[in-house]
Amino acid sequence: TGGMERHTYDVVVVGAGGAGLRAAIAAHEAGSRTAIVCKSLLGKAHTVMAEGGIAAAMGNRWPEDNWEVHFRDTMRGGKMLNNWRMAQLHAQEAPERVQELEDWGALFDRTDDGLISQRDFGGHRYARLAHVGDRTGLEMIRTLQQRAVALGIDVFMECTVTDLMLDTSDGSRISGAFGYWRETGRFVVFEAPSVILATGGIGKSFKVTSNSWEYTGDGHALALRAGASLINMEFVQFHPTGMVWPPSVKGLLVTESVRGDGGILRNSEGKRFMFDYIPEFFRAETADTEEEADRWYDDKANNRRPPELLPRDEVARAINSEIKAGRGSPHGGIFLDIASRRTPEFIRKRLPSMYHQFKELADVDITAEPMEIGPTCHYVMGGVEVDADTELSGVEGLYAVGECSGGMHGSNRLGGNSLSDLLVFGRRAGESAASYAAGLGARPQVADADVTAAATSALAPFEGSASGTENPYTIQQDLQQTMNDLVGIIRTGPELEASLAEIDRLKERARHLLVEGHRQYNPGWHLALDLRSMLLVSECIAKAALERQESRGGHTRDDFPGPDPEWGSRNLVLRLDAGGEGVELAHQPLPAMPDDLKTYFEGS
Ligand code: FAD
Repeated sequence: TGGMERHTYDVVVVGAGGAGLRAAIAAHEAGSRTAIVCKSLLGKAHTVMAEGGIAAAMGNRWPEDNWEVHFRDTMRGGKMLNNWRMAQLHAQEAPERVQELEDWGALFDRTDDGLISQRDFGGHRYARLAHVGDRTGLEMIRTLQQRAVALGIDVFMECTVTDLMLDTSDGSRISGAFGYWRETGRFVVFEAPSVILATGGIGKSFKVTSNSWEYTGDGHALALRAGASLINMEFVQFHPTGMVWPPSVKGLLVTESVRGDGGILRNSEGKRFMFDYIPEFFRAETADTEEEADRWYDDKANNRRPPELLPRDEVARAINSEIKAGRGSPHGGIFLDIASRRTPEFIRKRLPSMYHQFKELADVDITAEPMEIGPTCHYVMGGVEVDADTELSGVEGLYAVGECSGGMHGSNRLGGNSLSDLLVFGRRAGESAASYAAGLGARPQVADADVTAAATSALAPFEGSASGTENPYTIQQDLQQTMNDLVGIIRTGPELEASLAEIDRLKERARHLLVEGHRQYNPGWHLALDLRSMLLVSECIAKAALERQESRGGHTRDDFPGPDPEWGSRNLVLRLDAGGEGVELAHQPLPAMPDDLKTYFEGS
């Protein structure tokens, strides 16, 4: 390992989305020597794709809005399975974090009074999403990136972390991270007592997804393999509106802002069907006539919100049912119509990316005709189990933040609550990781044997070449199909069992990979390494989904159609099993909410 590239930092942040950048800025400002390592080019993270906005109870449009209402909406949206403390901190601190982004140069859309504009989204009682047209994520990343670079934080781009390093001489604590450069295939070791995982989601394990190639659950898998635990993994969010046509872009997101700005859903009979799908839980706050729903956009005080703006899990299930009942659109979706509801000028101004996306990709003019849309795998609520205040995982020195952490969103995330989550907990993680590193006496050591083991493991896909027969792309496709068909939006016990058997077979096949060529820029090899994460995380999702015998939020069991109060007080926790190849599952009570917060939910 002597000749291997090595760097020493106090805090290493894995991932350069909103969570990673915000964490790195906080760690740097707290005095830590900080580096960001990211798998793709800086600025390419998922965060940049976020369209709708950042949820924060700033009260710019509705002075009645405050953190308590946001907290209540978030908990109800997550069907009360959220970690209450995270939901509280998130609601309390989000406005300050948005304001700070503005201080750092972000240019938000404005209200007529010159305040940051806020738009409506599903599950939020008031217009709450600070936005920049439908390109909010781009502005957020631009601002954070500029600040990170101006502060002089080191960035390692196109560098993938494949292993975490532990010092086990006295207990077990983080000592660093191991990775490879995409271009050269050469290895690199980061020595650091604090590592913050900010690697985003897992969507690439599903066939139809809004996620891009990077989201293979690496952070989830790295944490598991280092000894940390995951929670809420059965909860995967299927966004109601992804493109269904043309096939090459199937799954690509159609922002919820289309509905927030007045768009409605219709089936092939022209019926506005969401009124047939209002669940009891949300009946009191949802309009039951089209007239009331339409009045709500301008008068929230005296009207209830349209059913198109129910939380995502409800809308996605309704769309799924309509399609299954044979009332779908020509390409197997449902119609999303804003053309008949708003002027072309309004649509082009508020939804410029959507306008171009449909024009260029589907040859559809959304100011003149409806879009065809259907559910798409979008977000994972599940992730690394962390302490709410510090984002520390169960492993000393290991923090997780953003989409790869769990707890905050419970069983279903509200739109806009991810970008705010990144900012609130990114800052907290950065500060705690920095303070831990600063308070250390002797620094943990990276053992040579561990570096050698990480290198051997990363090179294993080449070793199979003599006997290997399996192509990583085929395994990935088979996994995506399995997850889509058997662990998708509606689940059953027998199908989940079948998925686990198939994942086992895929894991076995993955032991006989054939990766050709050499280490210089070799996508087949990179995918072979990603597959380890994808298979492990898929197993977590399927196992937890089989165990949870109820339907709640992003987890719908056809064989257990309702929510069950017993399950409503329980988390499923996943850890690596003793063999190190699979995962084991345990039940854990939810942290108890203090009585003063409980009062927000009385009578609901
Ligand atoms: P990401 O932004 O996903 O970044 C992950 C980073 O980790 C990347 O830099 C990646 O390169 C890096 N990485 C991953 N694995 C490794 C590895 N092994 N080694 C090194 N680096 C690694 N949320 C909202 O709140 N509002 C919205 O309007 C909204 N719109 C969305 C629209 C789309 C199309 C999508 C896909 C999501 C949207 N979301 C939205 C969700 C939100 O964008 C994401 O949940 C959020 O951006 C995740 O941020 P993150 O910082 O956790 O991770």
